[in-house]
Amino acid sequence: MPKIIQLSPHVANLIAAGEVVERPASVVKELLENAVDAGASQVTVEIRDGGMTFLRVTDNGCGMSSEDARTAFLRHATSKLRQAEDLSAIATMGFRGEALAAIASVSRIDLMTKTPGSLSGTSLHLEAGSITEESEAGCPDGTTIIVRDLFYNTPARMKFMKSDTVEGGKVAAAVQLQALAHPEVSFRFLRDGKQVLSTPGTGDLEAAVYCVYGRDCARMVKVESRWENYTLTGYVTKPTDSRPSRALQTFFVNDRPVKSRLLIAALEEAYRNQIMSGKFPACVLHLKVPANTVDVNVHPAKTEVKFLSEKAVFDCVHYGVLGALNKTVDRPQVQFKTPPAPTPVQPPKAAPQKQETFFRTMTAAEYKTFSSAMQDAPQPKKEAAIATVAAIEQTRSLPLREHVVIPAPMPNPIPVAQPPKSETVPEPPAAEPEQVAMPMPQDIPWRLVGELYRSYVLVEQGEEAFLIDKHAAHERILFDKLKQKQEAISSQVLLTPVPCRLSPDAAAELLANRELLQELGFELDQFGDNTVLLRQIPMDLSPEDAADAAEALAADLLSGRREDRNSVRDEVLHTVACKAAIKAGWHTDEKELLALVRQVMENDELKYCPHGRPICISLSKKQLEKQFKRS
Ligand code: ADP
Ligand code: MG
Repeated sequence: MPKIIQLSPHVANLIAAGEVVERPASVVKELLENAVDAGASQVTVEIRDGGMTFLRVTDNGCGMSSEDARTAFLRHATSKLRQAEDLSAIATMGFRGEALAAIASVSRIDLMTKTPGSLSGTSLHLEAGSITEESEAGCPDGTTIIVRDLFYNTPARMKFMKSDTVEGGKVAAAVQLQALAHPEVSFRFLRDGKQVLSTPGTGDLEAAVYCVYGRDCARMVKVESRWENYTLTGYVTKPTDSRPSRALQTFFVNDRPVKSRLLIAALEEAYRNQIMSGKFPACVLHLKVPANTVDVNVHPAKTEVKFLSEKAVFDCVHYGVLGALNKTVDRPQVQFKTPPAPTPVQPPKAAPQKQETFFRTMTAAEYKTFSSAMQDAPQPKKEAAIATVAAIEQTRSLPLREHVVIPAPMPNPIPVAQPPKSETVPEPPAAEPEQVAMPMPQDIPWRLVGELYRSYVLVEQGEEAFLIDKHAAHERILFDKLKQKQEAISSQVLLTPVPCRLSPDAAAELLANRELLQELGFELDQFGDNTVLLRQIPMDLSPEDAADAAEALAADLLSGRREDRNSVRDEVLHTVACKAAIKAGWHTDEKELLALVRQVMENDELKYCPHGRPICISLSKKQLEKQFKRS
C-alpha cells in the first residue's frame, strides 16, 4: 500500500467539480440559483460558443463585500447555512457552498460585485481556483460573473463536451427551467449575441410558461389545489394535447426543479384512460411542502428529493391534476383556422423559431397587452389575440360542404354491435334519403339532427351544435360500465371454441396469465404450438372479434405492464370496449343513436374515449356565422 496523504484543496475541488460542474449548463444552473438566492429581480445570461469559451451571468441582487467575494470561492463557503440543524429546513436554492469553488477550479473567472450600501465594488480574477488579481471597481449593485474557457485545465472532461449547438441548447433549457421556477424574476438569455428568451418577471406563472412553452400553453389547464398542508399550482395539458415524450414535464418542489418518478407517476395517473398509450401530458407544476417534510440533500446537483410522506405527495398531485382536468367544462370546439385578424395587440418580435420551437420572447409591456386582451375580451377576441401572438397561420379553411347523411328507418333494429357481414362499409339504404323525424322525447333540451358519414351524430342545443363520434362515445360508455363492475366480468361460453393463432411468445404470455384473463372473462387452453383455443369470452364481445381481442391482450401483457394488474385490466377493458362498440361506418338505428346521444349529453364527464380521442366537439352558431361572413 502506498502511503496515505490528504488531497490538496485544489485536487479536492477538481473532484467536487466532477459532480457539480458537468457542462456549461450546470454552471449556468448554479449561477442562476445564486442570483435568485441573492434576491435578484433581473438576471441576464449570455453565452458564446455553447458557453464553453464565454458565459456571463449578471444579476441585480444583494452583491458581496470584498471580503465575502474572496471567501465565496473557498470550498464549503456559504452564507446560507450555519449549523447542522439548518439542513433540515432549507429555504434557499444553494446551501452546499461548493458551486463557486468547483466552477472556479476548472475555468478562468472574472467577478464584479457591489452591495447597495457601498460606494464602490470589488473586481476579482481567478485562474484554476486561485485569485490572481483583485481591485476596487466601479460597478452597478449586484453581481456579474464571467466564466471563460471552461475545463481548460481538465482535458479529460473537455473530451465529453458535445457540439456548441448541443451545449448551448442545454444552457437554454437550464435558463428556461429557472424562468419557470421563478416567475417573479425577469430572465433574459442571449446566445451568440441574439436574445432568445425574455420573461416579464411579474410573478405570474402563466406569463413565464407562455414565454417558455410558446402558444401551446394558451390551451393548458390551470391547476390550483391544496392537500393537507401541501399546495399544488401550475398548468397541465389537456388529454388531447398530449406529447410524444416527457420532455415538457417540469416539476418544482419548493421552487427547486426536481426529477421524480413519484411526481411523474402521480401526474400520469390523473390521465389514466384519457390519453393514448405512448403519449404523455406536459406540465409545469409547483409543489409547495413544508421545508421539513422534504430532503433536498440527496444529490450533489440537488435535482433529486426525498419526501417524508410519498403517499401524501402522490395524492396531492394526482387529485390536484384530476380535479383540474375534470373542471374543464368546455368540450373541444371545431377548430377553424383563424384568418389573420386585425391586430389587437403588438405581436412580440419573432423569436428564432426554427430551432427552438418552444421559445417565445415577450417583454413585460408586451405581456401586459397580451394578458389584458386575454382577460377582458370575449372568446373571439381572445382567439384573435392568441392567433396574432403566435405569428398567425395563413391557411384559411374550407367551410363544411359534405352531404349530411340522414339515417333511414330500419324495419328491424339491429342489436348493438353487430357488424355488417361484409368488411366494407355497407351500402347506403336503398330508400330515398327522405328526412326522418327522430323520435324525440319532449323533456330534453336538445335535438338530434342526424348523422354525418355514418360516424358523427349531429345534435343541436340552443345556439350550439355538437358532433358526437359514435364509436368513441359508445366505447367510453362500455368501458366505464365494464370498469364499474369491479368484480369478475360476466362471460359467455362459446359453443364452438375459437382457435386463435399467435406468435409463440404471445401464446405463451396468454397461457401464463390464465388466472388474470379468467377474471376478465376469458377462458382458454393451449391448442398446438402457437395457438390457443378460446372457450369463454366476455359477454360484450362478439365471437368474431374474440381472436383479435386475444391478440391485443397478448400485446398488452407483453408490452411490460404486467406488474400492474390495474393497468392490464384497464387495457383489457379498452380492448373489449373497443371491439364491442358500434363502429364508424356501420348503420346504427335511430333508437340506438338517441340512447347514445342522451348519455353523452347528460354526462359532461364523457369527454374522451379511453384512448384519449375526443367524444364530442362543439360548433357554435357564432362560429358558423363567422365562417359565412355574417358577423
Ligand atoms: P451556496 O450557494 O451553496 O452557498 P456557492 O458556492 O454557490 O454556495 O456560493 C457561495 C456563497 O457566495 C453564497 O453562499 C453567497 O453568499 C455568495 N454568492 C454567490 N453568488 C452570489 C451572487 N450572485 N450574489 C450574492 N452573493 C453570492
Ligand atoms: Mg450556490
